[in-house]
Amino acid sequence: MYYDIIIIGAGTAGLTASIYARRAGKSVLLIEQENFGGQIVYSPLVENYPGIASVSGNAFADSLLTQAEALGAVTELAAVTGVSKAPDGTFTVQTEYGDFTAGALIAATGASHRKLGLEREEELTGSGVSYCALCDGAFFKGRDVAVAGGGDTACQDAVFLAGLCRKVYIVHRRDQFRAEQRNVDMLKALPNVELVLNARVTELKGAGELTGVNVTDTLTGAVRALDVAALFVAVGQIPATALFSGMLELDGRGYIVAGEDTCTGVPGVFAAGDVRTKSVRQLTTAAADGAVAATAACRYLRENGR
Ligand SMILES: Cc1cc2nc3c(=O)[nH]c(=O)nc-3n(C[C@H](O)[C@H](O)[C@H](O)COP(=O)(O)OP(=O)(O)OC[C@H]3O[C@@H](n4cnc5c(N)ncnc54)[C@H](O)[C@@H]3O)c2cc1C
Repeated sequence: MYYDIIIIGAGTAGLTASIYARRAGKSVLLIEQENFGGQIVYSPLVENYPGIASVSGNAFADSLLTQAEALGAVTELAAVTGVSKAPDGTFTVQTEYGDFTAGALIAATGASHRKLGLEREEELTGSGVSYCALCDGAFFKGRDVAVAGGGDTACQDAVFLAGLCRKVYIVHRRDQFRAEQRNVDMLKALPNVELVLNARVTELKGAGELTGVNVTDTLTGAVRALDVAALFVAVGQIPATALFSGMLELDGRGYIVAGEDTCTGVPGVFAAGDVRTKSVRQLTTAAADGAVAATAACRYLRENGR
């Protein structure tokens, strides 16, 4: 079956792209392997989307999906397993249930946060364990929190949280940060940040809600309890781009190389949302990318007589 535009991934970026493409009169197939709505469905509360003071991630995702389907976007629950471009310029998208073709493609497959792998980490996510300081920091204003990680994101998260929270512990398994020196210097200058080096978070405490963490010294094995209301895990993200390796250029961390215009190196393929190279990965930026990618895909189709 041929569609003007196939969108792979139905998170905020993919759903927004489908809304814009349908409103431009294009036929749209939106393929999602797991959750229509993407990663935000795991968030109990979103309070930073402009115009919506407070909403659960599920309700946010539901209303995006309802809007896209009401506009006529066709949805398919399937994992995309392969993508290729034919000599006539059309794209073939392979799924576990069959192939589809399109004149343009939008890659909106997102990314997932690397976990610490601790017991009850999943259960406490959204109840004290967070992977996004920018999203959830404000919920812990005036309280003591910890950040796990030693890269730029961890340092920037700790600096951001130090402006909101009473005390911030940054727990890193080595004695040196991997972050840029500028970020490390900024961190070290803050009076309410304590560096807990050569240490790993080894236990999450609390029933139903996080009440603290235990950290273990990697050199001595000594265990220290930190009474924190939240643990922000910043140990990296894994972009869902295996599908595109060989076809699209990926950066050193695996993100699709594309600028604010969402154009990739392959004409007719656009990358939107957390999956592309960018500095802020949020709902607002995913929605913005979806709008830009759909508009660019429509222009591409027009310019190529499709
Ligand atoms: C717990 C949590 C809380 C958050 N809270 C906030 C917040 O309060 N405010 C905020 O602005 N941001 C928040 N974020 C970040 C926000 O959710 C992301 O920035 C946003 O969802 C990115 O949207 P996206 O569409 O680019 O990617 P995603 O939401 O990751 O969607 C990508 C979709 O692609 C699908 N997919 C991947 N590979 C394939 C494939 N091969 N075939 C088919 N489908 C595929 C995935 O299943 C997924 O549904 C939070 C994130 C998490 C995890």
